[in-house]
Amino acid sequence: MFNIVPVSAFTDNYIWIIHDQYHAVVVDPGEAKPVLNFLQQKKLKLIAILNTHHHSDHVGGNLALLQQFPVPVYGPASESISTVTHCLKEGDSVYLAELSLGLSILDIPGHTAGHIAYYGANSLFCGDTLFACGCGRLFEGTAQQMYISLNKLARLPDKTAVYCGHEYTLANINFAKLVEPGNQTLIQLQVSAEKQRRSNLPTLPSTIVMEKTCNPFLRCNQPEVIHSASNYIGKHLTDPVSVFATIREWKNNI
Ligand SMILES: [Zn+2]
Repeated sequence: MFNIVPVSAFTDNYIWIIHDQYHAVVVDPGEAKPVLNFLQQKKLKLIAILNTHHHSDHVGGNLALLQQFPVPVYGPASESISTVTHCLKEGDSVYLAELSLGLSILDIPGHTAGHIAYYGANSLFCGDTLFACGCGRLFEGTAQQMYISLNKLARLPDKTAVYCGHEYTLANINFAKLVEPGNQTLIQLQVSAEKQRRSNLPTLPSTIVMEKTCNPFLRCNQPEVIHSASNYIGKHLTDPVSVFATIREWKNNI
């Protein structure tokens, strides 16, 4: 068995560490220092680094970690990350023998062109693609690509725990309430997320079922979401990709 714990980095990044009290795997180490501190504190040996995409706040700590732990670095095949030793694309899998943990790879382009997710043991590591109640910005991909990627994640089992890269939940809930003011679950989610943040606790992981219930970017077929997006852009939208593109643009402008 293993635990999955967040290490905070920068202002709102989470670096996820999967460990069994002896061995540790780190997901998206944007910086090395907090990871090295954690490993030292818990007397853990790093066995692998997993990267979801090339942004420096997700890979910036690779090199310094490698200087202390010369481990394999897994990352997206179609992005250039100099420290990656094992290039991955959809259909590939990673087996971390020390943790008896198998992860399969999903291609989820949109935030970046080659963004990947790691899925296994009822857990999803999805970087900056799916956030609690939100989604990543479209830096390199199209709205259609991101829509397809998000829906791919939404088809994972309901109980899947969603480990994303940032603590954006409260701001995302505020936006979701603008898009879907009638969604009562958002109110409950806001109450619990505010309580967690007051205690300086992460609001993550989320779950796929929670995201399907609350996340407007996964609800582009819902009448109230279509209505709000249509109001925002001033014309009647019918297809879900246009609804998605509109609410993504709307959130960018807030
Ligand atoms: Zn990013």
